[in-house]
Amino acid sequence: MTTATAPSPAAATPATPAAASKPPRRRRSRRWIRAVAPFAVLFAIWAFTGVAHAIEEPDLDEPGTLDSTRCLSYWTQSPEAIPEPYREELGAQVYGCDICQDVCPWNRGIEKRRAGEEAPAGAEPVVSLLDWLRMPDEELGVRYGRLYFPRNDPRYLRRNALVAAGNSADRSLVDAVRPFAEGEDQLLREHAEWALALLEGDTDRPGGHER
Ligand code: SF4
Repeated sequence: MTTATAPSPAAATPATPAAASKPPRRRRSRRWIRAVAPFAVLFAIWAFTGVAHAIEEPDLDEPGTLDSTRCLSYWTQSPEAIPEPYREELGAQVYGCDICQDVCPWNRGIEKRRAGEEAPAGAEPVVSLLDWLRMPDEELGVRYGRLYFPRNDPRYLRRNALVAAGNSADRSLVDAVRPFAEGEDQLLREHAEWALALLEGDTDRPGGHER
């Protein structure tokens, strides 16, 4: 049921003489400001927290924003050549990264609970680069079958090992790297040439540097 009520005398007449004399235009502009204010506040937050920039240029420097193609872990699992700027960043890592998981405050509780626990069966925090470079394809693929690498093809693990070898400054690895630089596989050849240039101190090549 809908009922209509007649306005009371108090509501129909201005409460004070001042209200009665207020210009209608001023009241209209106050109403307009009240309507727009929340949007202005939201815009200010959007602009000053960098949300606008993050939407236009996603990268790792913006809070809460991740460009996966700048993630080292991504490149160790990619089917493509690892871009040169990321090769040096990988250092001695042959697979994955997950430093963000280690330093994330969200994970602190889990880390505390796991402190002192044995590493899971088969975990190998440190591997032999020589094994990764010299082990037969099939053996390498089976041994690390628990990891993701494209099409289960161990050449991608080999590629990662070549990058780590180049970064190692360990000249004893030259003999293990060289066959890939002379091989048929174009992906491995290019990464091996990059590694040899570092190991043998060729600093003239693009991206080369002293060790
Ligand atoms: S810390 Fe490592 S795994 Fe995490 S986003 Fe950065 S590069 Fe990727």
